[in-house]
Amino acid sequence: MKLLEERIARDGVVKAEGVLKVDSFLNHQMDIDLFNEMGAEFKRLFADAPINKILTIEASGIGIAAIAAQHFGVPVVFAKKSQSINLDGDMYSTRIQSFTHGKVFNVIVSKKFIGPDDRVLIIDDFLANGCALDGLIEIVESAGAAVEGIGIAIEKGFQPGGKNLRERGYRLESLAIVESMDPGTGTLTFRDQW
Ligand code: 5GP
Repeated sequence: MKLLEERIARDGVVKAEGVLKVDSFLNHQMDIDLFNEMGAEFKRLFADAPINKILTIEASGIGIAAIAAQHFGVPVVFAKKSQSINLDGDMYSTRIQSFTHGKVFNVIVSKKFIGPDDRVLIIDDFLANGCALDGLIEIVESAGAAVEGIGIAIEKGFQPGGKNLRERGYRLESLAIVESMDPGTGTLTFRDQW
Protein backbone atom coordinates (compact mmCIF):
# COMPACT_ATOMS: atom_id res chain seq x y z
CA MET A 1 0.00 0.00 0.00
CA LYS A 2 1.78 3.08 -1.32
CA LEU A 3 0.26 5.49 1.20
CA LEU A 4 1.59 3.45 4.13
CA GLU A 5 5.01 2.97 2.53
CA GLU A 6 5.32 6.71 1.97
CA ARG A 7 4.36 7.39 5.57
CA ILE A 8 6.87 4.86 6.91
CA ALA A 9 9.60 6.37 4.70
CA ARG A 10 8.73 9.87 5.90
CA ASP A 11 8.03 9.36 9.61
CA GLY A 12 9.43 5.95 10.56
CA VAL A 13 12.60 5.86 12.65
CA VAL A 14 15.00 2.96 12.12
CA LYS A 15 16.41 1.73 15.42
CA ALA A 16 19.14 -0.78 16.15
CA GLU A 17 18.43 -4.52 16.25
CA GLY A 18 15.80 -4.52 13.54
CA VAL A 19 13.25 -2.30 15.28
CA LEU A 20 11.23 0.28 13.36
CA LYS A 21 9.55 3.03 15.38
CA VAL A 22 6.32 4.37 13.98
CA ASP A 23 5.10 6.10 17.13
CA SER A 24 3.97 9.27 15.39
CA PHE A 25 1.21 7.61 13.32
CA LEU A 26 0.65 4.02 14.40
CA ASN A 27 1.96 2.88 17.78
CA HIS A 28 1.40 5.85 20.07
CA GLN A 29 -0.22 8.73 18.22
CA MET A 30 -2.64 7.16 15.71
CA ASP A 31 -3.50 8.63 12.31
CA ILE A 32 -7.11 7.54 11.97
CA ASP A 33 -7.45 8.67 8.33
CA LEU A 34 -4.52 6.39 7.52
CA PHE A 35 -6.06 3.56 9.61
CA ASN A 36 -9.27 4.00 7.65
CA GLU A 37 -7.43 3.62 4.33
CA MET A 38 -5.69 0.55 5.75
CA GLY A 39 -9.04 -0.92 6.80
CA ALA A 40 -10.44 -0.36 3.30
CA GLU A 41 -7.38 -2.08 1.82
CA PHE A 42 -7.76 -5.11 4.12
CA LYS A 43 -11.39 -5.33 3.04
CA ARG A 44 -10.37 -5.19 -0.63
CA LEU A 45 -7.70 -7.87 -0.13
CA PHE A 46 -10.01 -10.23 1.79
CA ALA A 47 -13.24 -9.38 -0.07
CA ASP A 48 -13.90 -13.02 -0.99
CA ALA A 49 -13.25 -14.46 2.49
CA PRO A 50 -16.29 -15.24 4.70
CA ILE A 51 -14.91 -13.39 7.73
CA ASN A 52 -17.23 -12.98 10.71
CA LYS A 53 -14.74 -11.92 13.39
CA ILE A 54 -11.46 -10.07 13.73
CA LEU A 55 -8.91 -11.10 16.36
CA THR A 56 -6.00 -8.94 17.44
CA ILE A 57 -3.71 -8.53 20.46
CA GLU A 58 -3.41 -5.65 22.87
CA ALA A 59 -2.34 -2.95 22.70
CA SER A 60 -1.11 -1.79 19.30
CA GLY A 61 -3.31 -4.08 17.19
CA ILE A 62 -6.56 -2.78 18.66
CA GLY A 63 -6.80 0.56 16.89
CA ILE A 64 -6.05 -0.89 13.46
CA ALA A 65 -8.41 -3.83 14.00
CA ALA A 66 -11.23 -1.63 15.27
CA ILE A 67 -11.13 0.68 12.25
CA ALA A 68 -10.77 -2.30 9.87
CA ALA A 69 -13.79 -3.94 11.49
CA GLN A 70 -16.00 -1.09 10.33
CA HIS A 71 -15.20 -2.10 6.74
CA PHE A 72 -16.03 -5.75 7.44
CA GLY A 73 -19.06 -5.12 9.67
CA VAL A 74 -17.85 -7.68 12.22
CA PRO A 75 -16.85 -7.58 15.92
CA VAL A 76 -13.28 -7.36 17.15
CA VAL A 77 -11.88 -9.54 19.93
CA PHE A 78 -8.51 -8.71 21.38
CA ALA A 79 -6.26 -11.16 23.17
CA LYS A 80 -5.37 -9.81 26.61
CA LYS A 81 -1.97 -9.95 28.18
CA SER A 82 -2.33 -11.59 31.57
CA GLN A 83 -0.08 -11.96 34.62
CA SER A 84 -1.32 -15.42 35.47
CA ILE A 85 -2.10 -18.51 33.45
CA ASN A 86 -5.76 -19.40 33.44
CA LEU A 87 -6.72 -22.45 35.44
CA ASP A 88 -10.51 -22.56 35.45
CA GLY A 89 -10.97 -23.49 31.79
CA ASP A 90 -13.12 -20.59 30.60
CA MET A 91 -10.27 -19.00 28.64
CA TYR A 92 -8.00 -20.01 25.83
CA SER A 93 -4.48 -19.15 26.81
CA THR A 94 -1.06 -19.29 25.25
CA ARG A 95 2.41 -17.90 25.81
CA ILE A 96 4.05 -15.43 23.44
CA GLN A 97 7.68 -14.35 23.21
CA SER A 98 7.70 -10.56 22.85
CA PHE A 99 9.90 -9.21 20.06
CA THR A 100 10.20 -5.70 21.46
CA HIS A 101 10.45 -6.55 25.18
CA GLY A 102 12.32 -9.83 24.91
CA LYS A 103 10.22 -11.60 27.55
CA VAL A 104 7.47 -14.22 27.46
CA PHE A 105 3.94 -13.27 28.45
CA ASN A 106 0.60 -15.07 28.74
CA VAL A 107 -2.32 -14.07 26.56
CA ILE A 108 -5.92 -15.05 27.09
CA VAL A 109 -9.18 -14.96 25.13
CA SER A 110 -12.51 -15.85 26.71
CA LYS A 111 -14.20 -18.95 25.29
CA LYS A 112 -17.37 -16.81 25.14
CA PHE A 113 -16.00 -14.79 22.25
CA ILE A 114 -14.51 -17.32 19.88
CA GLY A 115 -15.85 -20.73 18.91
CA PRO A 116 -16.26 -23.32 16.14
CA ASP A 117 -18.56 -21.13 14.02
CA ASP A 118 -16.03 -18.33 13.72
CA ARG A 119 -14.09 -17.53 10.56
CA VAL A 120 -11.40 -15.22 11.75
CA LEU A 121 -9.21 -12.53 10.26
CA ILE A 122 -6.20 -11.95 12.51
CA ILE A 123 -4.87 -8.38 12.41
CA ASP A 124 -1.71 -6.96 13.98
CA ASP A 125 0.53 -3.95 13.57
CA PHE A 126 3.90 -5.67 12.97
CA LEU A 127 5.14 -9.05 11.84
CA ALA A 128 8.73 -9.89 12.79
CA ASN A 129 9.51 -13.46 13.90
CA GLY A 130 5.86 -14.47 13.97
CA CYS A 131 5.56 -15.34 17.67
CA ALA A 132 2.54 -13.10 18.27
CA LEU A 133 0.74 -14.58 15.26
CA ASP A 134 1.65 -18.13 16.25
CA GLY A 135 -0.04 -17.52 19.59
CA LEU A 136 -3.15 -16.02 18.02
CA ILE A 137 -3.38 -18.85 15.46
CA GLU A 138 -3.09 -21.38 18.28
CA ILE A 139 -6.01 -19.73 20.08
CA VAL A 140 -8.20 -19.68 16.96
CA GLU A 141 -7.44 -23.29 16.11
CA SER A 142 -7.90 -24.55 19.65
CA ALA A 143 -11.35 -22.92 19.60
CA GLY A 144 -12.22 -24.99 16.51
CA ALA A 145 -12.53 -21.77 14.50
CA ALA A 146 -10.93 -21.16 11.08
CA VAL A 147 -8.13 -18.72 10.27
CA GLU A 148 -9.45 -17.12 7.07
CA GLY A 149 -6.51 -14.79 6.79
CA ILE A 150 -3.91 -12.63 8.47
CA GLY A 151 -3.68 -8.90 7.85
CA ILE A 152 -0.54 -7.05 8.93
CA ALA A 153 0.24 -3.35 8.66
CA ILE A 154 4.05 -3.63 8.52
CA GLU A 155 5.92 -6.87 7.86
CA LYS A 156 9.68 -6.88 8.25
CA GLY A 157 10.60 -9.13 5.35
CA PHE A 158 14.16 -9.61 6.59
CA GLN A 159 12.84 -11.44 9.66
CA PRO A 160 11.42 -14.95 9.23
CA GLY A 161 7.79 -14.74 10.40
CA GLY A 162 6.16 -13.93 7.06
CA LYS A 163 8.02 -16.57 5.08
CA ASN A 164 7.20 -19.24 7.67
CA LEU A 165 3.50 -18.41 7.77
CA ARG A 166 3.19 -18.38 3.95
CA GLU A 167 4.98 -21.72 3.77
CA ARG A 168 2.51 -23.13 6.29
CA GLY A 169 -0.27 -22.13 3.90
CA TYR A 170 -1.80 -19.16 5.71
CA ARG A 171 -3.23 -16.38 3.61
CA LEU A 172 -1.10 -13.48 4.77
CA GLU A 173 -1.44 -9.94 3.42
CA SER A 174 0.94 -7.23 4.63
CA LEU A 175 0.20 -3.66 3.60
CA ALA A 176 3.90 -2.78 3.57
CA ILE A 177 6.86 -5.17 3.60
CA VAL A 178 10.13 -3.60 4.69
CA GLU A 179 12.85 -5.50 2.87
CA SER A 180 15.81 -3.82 4.51
CA MET A 181 16.58 -0.98 6.88
CA ASP A 182 19.80 0.65 7.90
CA PRO A 183 19.98 2.25 11.37
CA GLY A 184 23.13 4.13 10.33
CA THR A 185 21.61 6.07 7.45
CA GLY A 186 17.93 5.59 8.34
CA THR A 187 17.18 4.30 4.83
CA LEU A 188 14.50 1.68 4.17
CA THR A 189 13.61 -0.39 1.14
CA PHE A 190 10.23 -2.02 0.48
CA ARG A 191 9.34 -5.25 -1.27
CA ASP A 192 7.56 -4.44 -4.51
CA GLN A 193 4.19 -6.15 -4.11
CA TRP A 194 2.56 -4.61 -7.15
P1 5GP B 1 6.78 -11.11 16.31
O1 5GP B 1 5.94 -11.82 17.35
O2 5GP B 1 6.29 -11.33 14.90
O3 5GP B 1 8.25 -11.40 16.47
O4 5GP B 1 6.65 -9.55 16.62
C1 5GP B 1 5.43 -8.93 16.43
C2 5GP B 1 5.05 -8.08 17.61
O5 5GP B 1 6.18 -7.40 18.14
C3 5GP B 1 4.05 -7.02 17.17
O6 5GP B 1 2.83 -7.27 17.84
C4 5GP B 1 4.65 -5.69 17.58
O7 5GP B 1 3.96 -5.18 18.68
C5 5GP B 1 6.07 -6.00 18.00
N1 5GP B 1 7.08 -5.58 17.01
C6 5GP B 1 7.89 -6.40 16.29
N2 5GP B 1 8.76 -5.70 15.56
C7 5GP B 1 8.50 -4.40 15.79
C8 5GP B 1 9.09 -3.18 15.31
O8 5GP B 1 10.04 -3.15 14.51
N3 5GP B 1 8.54 -2.02 15.76
C9 5GP B 1 7.50 -2.01 16.63
N4 5GP B 1 7.02 -0.81 16.99
N5 5GP B 1 6.92 -3.13 17.11
C10 5GP B 1 7.42 -4.32 16.70
